[in-house]
Amino acid sequence: MVRDPNPKTGRAMPSVVVKIGTSSVTDAEGGVDAAVLGAVAADVVDLRGSGWSVVVVTSGAITAGWAEVGAGRPRPRDAVTLQAVSAVGQPLLMQAWRRAFAALGAPVGQVLLAPLDFSHRGQYLHARDTLTALAGLGVVAVVNENDAVADEEIRFGDNDRLAALVANLVAATHLVLLTDTAGLLTADPRVDKGATLIEEVRAFDADLEARAGSSRSGVGSGGMASKVAAAKMASWSGVTTVIAPARVEHALAHALSGEPGVGTVVRPRAARLSARKSWIAFAVPSRGRVAVNEGARRALEEEGRSLLPVGVTAVEGEFAEGDAVEVVAPDGAVVAKGLARVGASEFASAGVVVVHRDDLVLLRRG
Ligand code: GLU
Repeated sequence: MVRDPNPKTGRAMPSVVVKIGTSSVTDAEGGVDAAVLGAVAADVVDLRGSGWSVVVVTSGAITAGWAEVGAGRPRPRDAVTLQAVSAVGQPLLMQAWRRAFAALGAPVGQVLLAPLDFSHRGQYLHARDTLTALAGLGVVAVVNENDAVADEEIRFGDNDRLAALVANLVAATHLVLLTDTAGLLTADPRVDKGATLIEEVRAFDADLEARAGSSRSGVGSGGMASKVAAAKMASWSGVTTVIAPARVEHALAHALSGEPGVGTVVRPRAARLSARKSWIAFAVPSRGRVAVNEGARRALEEEGRSLLPVGVTAVEGEFAEGDAVEVVAPDGAVVAKGLARVGASEFASAGVVVVHRDDLVLLRRG
């Protein structure tokens, strides 16, 4: 068992956000698989007994909802119906989680989060307080996306990303993504029989992101690309991610065992972003793009300075003061993301710092 959290994070208690994907939570008919939930619940209770704090992120609402009301028809594709169906499945899912944990004497609480809860800083801190208070009450928080009401345009759509944001929100030491494969594989196993497990990831490169790009599991919405994106987010936030199989005995304990060859372990970056900078980098949607000249690029990336209007060559988007914008270098690369101190219309002509370094994340260096 991994007992020592990453010393660089300075986080005293080991804590894990465990996400279970749709294909693991539901059975072949789309119903909630009580055996899988029971097994995860048992591991969660054991971990809590040895000092871990645990938050569960569950998928499966849409699939379970369609099993209830679909009467065997093919699953709909349009977002409005799927979102409505999630409203049917979510209580079924929670009922199953409640039953699984009640058998072990642990109460559960449901927390449904939507992207807006992460992009408004006040709301974000509020969600954090709720999760902390639940832990204080001895309640296991069971989180899902608020699929029924979140605007389709900005939905997370997959719970991998949501779980990574929750890991950042609660300052978890670990993120475990339980899925229907052995972990990240070198290729899609349905296409390439020689696909093997990637045991460890220390850095994100284009090759890894491209390998992950093609693979998808059948029923969930995530697939490997969203796992790599989530793990990257977690890594930048100082969180260790393990992508591991759900349908093995003691899947969660197994994933945290630290044994080589158990899932894919994605190490945290040495230069961890602060919670606020992770929030800027990953939780806040970008509302515009700002092109800068070479001098400004150097000042930001190499000298750690703030962005001044003099370095700005073009502004795109209707962003307002406080919105996030991406900073684009002369070679077209997005080098940073930050919060604008002035809106788009005055951005290039303002007489003040337009993105302060305290509100700026360098995406190539952290
Ligand atoms: N929130 C969706 C659900 O509960 C699942 C998203 C996903 O597949 O990751 O059905």
